[in-house]
Amino acid sequence: MTTVAAYAAPAAKAPLERTTIERREVGEHDILIDIKFAGICHSDIHQVREGWGGAIFPMVPGHEIAGVVSEVGSGVTTFRVGDRVGVGCMVDSCRECDNCRAGREQYCTGSGMVGTYNALDKNGEPTYGGYSQKIVVDENYVVRIPDGLPLDAAAPLLCAGITVYSPLKRWGAGPGKKVAILGMGGLGHMGVKIAHALGAEVTVLSQSLRKKDDGLKLGADHYYATADPKTFEELQGSFDLIVSTVSAPLDFNAYLSLLKTEGALVNVGAPEEPVSLNLFSVIGGGKTLAGSMIGGIAETQEMLDFCAGHGIGAEIELIGAAEINEAYERVQNSDVRYRFVIDTATI
Ligand code: NAP
Ligand code: ZN
Ligand code: ZN
Repeated sequence: MTTVAAYAAPAAKAPLERTTIERREVGEHDILIDIKFAGICHSDIHQVREGWGGAIFPMVPGHEIAGVVSEVGSGVTTFRVGDRVGVGCMVDSCRECDNCRAGREQYCTGSGMVGTYNALDKNGEPTYGGYSQKIVVDENYVVRIPDGLPLDAAAPLLCAGITVYSPLKRWGAGPGKKVAILGMGGLGHMGVKIAHALGAEVTVLSQSLRKKDDGLKLGADHYYATADPKTFEELQGSFDLIVSTVSAPLDFNAYLSLLKTEGALVNVGAPEEPVSLNLFSVIGGGKTLAGSMIGGIAETQEMLDFCAGHGIGAEIELIGAAEINEAYERVQNSDVRYRFVIDTATI
C-alpha cells in the first residue's frame, strides 16, 4: 500500500478537505499513474451532496484524470513508464457480459461498472478518484492521451468529452444535420466543439446570451437564450438532434417541440429530481427521447484521437486544490468557463 495525498468530502454535503488515502500495490496488470490534473465534473458535486442517493464517504471525487505512468505491473504490455495517460469514470467491469465484450463497459450487466470513486471494487474496497496525487488502475481501463493534447486541457475529455462524443456519433451528428446543444457548461462546450468538428450545424440553447461570444468562437453557428419565450416559437421543428447537458430538471415537452419529425433528444444531464413528461410530446412527430452514459474504453480512446486530430481540448480554468469548494459553488451557479481543472501538485 502507498499513502497518497488527496482531497475528500468526509461526509455528505461537507466541504472537501486535504487528507491521505491508501492506494493498492501495483498488481500484475496494474498501472501506477502520477496524476497531474483532475477536472471537476458536475457529477462530482451531485455525488458529494448525495443528490443521487446513498453515497460512500469519505469520498475522493474526480473522474477526469490526466497523468503520467510511473510504474507498470509485470504483465503490462500496452503502457510504459513515462506514457501520458487518462482515466475516466470507470476503473473496472465484469469483462465477460455482452456489453463488456462489445466495448460498452459502462453498461456492464455482469457486476456493473466499477466507478472511479463512490464505488466498491472487486475486493469490496472503496474506490477513490482523481483529486489525489496517484492512482493504481488496471491497464484495460486506462487510455492514452495523444502527444498533441496538453494534459490539463485533455483531463476534461475523459468525462465531458466522451459523454457528448458518444451520443453525437451514435445519433449521426455530421454534415447536413442540425444539432442543438442544450446547456453551455463543461459538457455543453465540448458538445459544441465536437459537433462542429463532426461537420454539423450547431446551435447552443443556453439560459441567457451571457456566453454567446464564447459559443460562437468555439464553433456554434447560432446561439439562443431559453429564458426568452420567442426562442421556442422561432425554433419549433428545427433540429435533427438535441443533446441536453443540463444538470437541473427541465420541461422536456418544450424542448421536444424543437425537434424535426422523427428527431431525437438525447439526455446526458443527470438532475437530482425526476421530470414530468407529456407523452404526446414524443407521439406526435414520432420523436425519440433517449439517454446516454459516458462511453466505452475503446470509444474513449477514439474520442481522444479525434480531439487530438482536430486540435480540440477543453477550455479550462486551472485551480489549486484549496479552491475546490469555491469552484463547486461556481459550477452550481453556472459560473464556469468552461471546466475547472485541479493542478494536483497543489494537493
Ligand atoms: P455544468 O458545467 O454545471 O453545466 C451544466 C449547464 O446546464 C450549465 O452550464 C447551464 O448552462 C445549464 N443549467 C444549469 N442549471 C440550469 C437550469 N436550472 N435550467 C436550465 N439550464 C441549466 O455541468 P456538467 O459538468 O457539464 O454536467 C452536466 C450534467 O451532466 C450534470 O447533471 C452531470 O451530472 C451530468 N453528467 C452526465 C454524464 C453521463 O454520462 N450521462 C456524464 C457527465 C456528467 P447555461 O449556463 O448555458 O444555461
Ligand atoms: Zn463526469
Ligand atoms: Zn460486463
